[in-house]
Amino acid sequence: MNGVLSTGLLSLIGACSGAIAGSFLNVVIHRVPRLIDAHGGNVSGAQYAAGLSWPGSHCAKCDHPLRWYDNIPLLSYVLLRGRCRFCGERYGVRYLAVEVLAAVAFACCLVTLGLTAKAFLAALFLAGLVALTIIDIEEQLLPDIVLGPLFVLGIAFQFLPGGSIGAAALGAGAGYGALWLIREAYRLYAGVEGMGYGDVKFAGVLGVWLGGAALPAMFAVAFVTGLAVSVPLMLMGRIGRQVAIPFGPFLAFAGMLLFTLPGIGPAIEMLFAF
Ligand SMILES: [Zn+2]
Repeated sequence: MNGVLSTGLLSLIGACSGAIAGSFLNVVIHRVPRLIDAHGGNVSGAQYAAGLSWPGSHCAKCDHPLRWYDNIPLLSYVLLRGRCRFCGERYGVRYLAVEVLAAVAFACCLVTLGLTAKAFLAALFLAGLVALTIIDIEEQLLPDIVLGPLFVLGIAFQFLPGGSIGAAALGAGAGYGALWLIREAYRLYAGVEGMGYGDVKFAGVLGVWLGGAALPAMFAVAFVTGLAVSVPLMLMGRIGRQVAIPFGPFLAFAGMLLFTLPGIGPAIEMLFAF
């Protein structure tokens, strides 16, 4: 009985904090690429802090500031049926999806790891992966302002019980190094940049969170899913050979998979006969 009660309570705390985090994530996803554009690619920490906190939430279409009661995560979207109260503009279902995903991620982490710092850090990691995936698909960009905090949080995570700073250091070096080599080799071979530098940094960040030992399996999943999606698109003529496909979503998916189900790492390695 006690266990059921605490699972319910942990889910509730997780879902509420996750929905709030998801709401902030939507601000990050929407504003970070625009801030980078507005400042010519060079945004200072202070400019990010100002740009993300002000102005308050407003309709992306009519600019009308949102009332506090129109800005409650999950609830407002459902009550207003995803429309602006003032101009009736439809907001993409993405806003709701991000809040739901974050709420589920936080609830799962809290139920699994309890009301601990480790649970909240793990949930922030998963939420960060969602943000990076969406930004990379929409803008072909993995912003430092998201990667940097994830790197620092990852180190903090590895200092907690069960973590290993050695594994994190190895993972950071191996993740960054492996993609750096692939990126340089492709550039020498093909004469064009096939992979963004953001992907290289992202692999280093994932290495911190997963540890070096999980990286072969993570890269295997990322490359195989990447090929499974991009080759059919190329064959169907939807994208050209020279088009750079954002690799971030596949890294994010692989990282999420190995982080939440670390036990499948050895099975994947066996599959690829490492
Ligand atoms: Zn509006």
